[in-house]
Parts: sequence; structure tokens; C-alpha cells
Amino acid sequence: MTGFEPGDAVVLSYYSCRACGTCERGHPAYCERGYAGNFSGARPDGSFPMRWRGAPIRSGFFHQSSFATHVLAHQHNAVKVDRKAPLELLAPLGCGFQTGAGAVLEAFKLQSGQQLAVFGVGAVGLAAVMAARVAGAASILAVDLDAGRLELARELGATDTYLATEPELTKTMLKRTRGGVDFALECVGIPQVLRQAFEVTRPLGTCGLLGLPSPEASEVTLSMTRLLFGKRLVGIIEGDADPKNFIPRMVALHAEGRFPLEKLSRSYDFEAINDAVHDMEARTVIKPVLRMHGGSTR
Ligand SMILES: [Zn+2]
Repeated sequence: MTGFEPGDAVVLSYYSCRACGTCERGHPAYCERGYAGNFSGARPDGSFPMRWRGAPIRSGFFHQSSFATHVLAHQHNAVKVDRKAPLELLAPLGCGFQTGAGAVLEAFKLQSGQQLAVFGVGAVGLAAVMAARVAGAASILAVDLDAGRLELARELGATDTYLATEPELTKTMLKRTRGGVDFALECVGIPQVLRQAFEVTRPLGTCGLLGLPSPEASEVTLSMTRLLFGKRLVGIIEGDADPKNFIPRMVALHAEGRFPLEKLSRSYDFEAINDAVHDMEARTVIKPVLRMHGGSTR
């Protein structure tokens, strides 16, 4: 029994085995077989679903490789949604949006009245901003190098925005929040930014790392003295969210108008793929989605 039937509409997310100790504890993002399932290009048991002239082909990035008209996915990383749902908007929910929103709602479990700071407001950071507004955050501080993105962050719920180049940034943020935020999120993967996020986290607060560092710069220096004040520093994959529950939750929030994905996403015909890449590089679109012809998005 897979729980699916022909004609179902699905959103794809990351693979997890749903049987190991970590999965059973409700944290499939840290699945013990997750690396093999998502990144090895083979099935978790080491076999290959596709061959070319007798030789195995590595495929199935994130257990899907969805950049195609057809994909081979697993029942564990497909999430059923309403057949009439706006699939072009929902397609990116399985990774970046889940990461940002999940960090706030699942990993932090941010409560009404608490404060959040988000460093880097691309798709992940903006999803965190939207989720913090859903949770009733008292203040949402957003930091980025791009003034346009900060404007969008404000539109989506940020109460305070700062250019990352602002001198004395952490001092200003500490003053604004009267000693720091309950939760801070690093969404860019840069050691200096993680340090800033840690510094603006108040005693007993939690600083979460979402950004993927480059292998050349993945070490960070932090004040052990400040850490002693009950601060927590935690790495978070995929928002520590279970896509089977969390994607439907985001879909429902979107339907209620509380998770306005349409403000972050723009769809392009596949033939306009160069425009999509251009707009992404020019930072005029947050999340470009390609519409395939022949194959259907429905
Ligand atoms: Zn597992």
C-alpha cells in the first residue's frame, strides 16, 4: 500500500526511510539513510533504477531529479495534494520554503509575542519571515545585502529591516530588541553571519543555522562566554519538518492567504529557461518555476 493512485497530484520533497531510529523519533530530516537515499544517485539499497547500455546511471537527486517531464520518486518523498491545487506555486514547498518555515514553526516552535531575526532573505529566509508572522511574532528583524529583498521581507511581515553592510549592525539590533531576540536564523552559510546571528540571540535564546557553508569556509569563532548564558546553537536541516505533515500545513496556510507564495514565485515556460536563470541571477525573482509542455504540471 502506497497511499497513492493514478491521477493523484503530488508535491515532492526529500527522501527518508521512515524506519530508522531518527525517523521513528519524528525527525525524518536527519534520517540515518537520508544521505544514501537523497544524494548517492542510487536507491538506498545500492541498486539503480535506470541503466544505459547495460551500465547503471546515477540519478534521482533528492530521490526525484524533478527537472524532467517524468520522475521516479518514492512513496516516502511524495506528498499528496488536492488535484485542483495550484501546483506551480506548490512545487517549491518541498525544500527551501519547508526549511525556512519549518525552522520557525517546527524546530523553534516560536510562540506569539517572541522575537525572530533572519539573516539572509532569499526563499528560505522569506519563508521564515512569513511563518513568524503566522505564529504571531512580536518583531521580525530581517537582514540582507539587497534593499529590494528587504522591501519584500517587510511586505511579508518583517517589522525591521537592515542592510547587512550597516555599521554596528549587531549593536543596533541588540538595542532595538532590548538585549537580543528569542530566535535567530542564519540562512546564507557564512561564518561571520552565523556569528552575528549568535550575537543577537538573547540569553536562553536559540540561534539556528540553515545556510550551507562552502567547504573552504565552514569554521566559525564564537564567544564561549556568551554561550554560557543559556544560549543554544543548532543546525537545522529541512526545518526539522516532516513533509507528510508540514507540506499540507503550508498548503492550508496558503489557501487561507497567510503564506503568500505567489509573492516569491514566478513561473516560466520551459523555452524561457534562459530568462528564468537571468532573472534569478539579477535577483529580480526569488523562486523561478519552469512549466514543462508535453508533460503536465497538473
Ligand atoms: Zn530514516
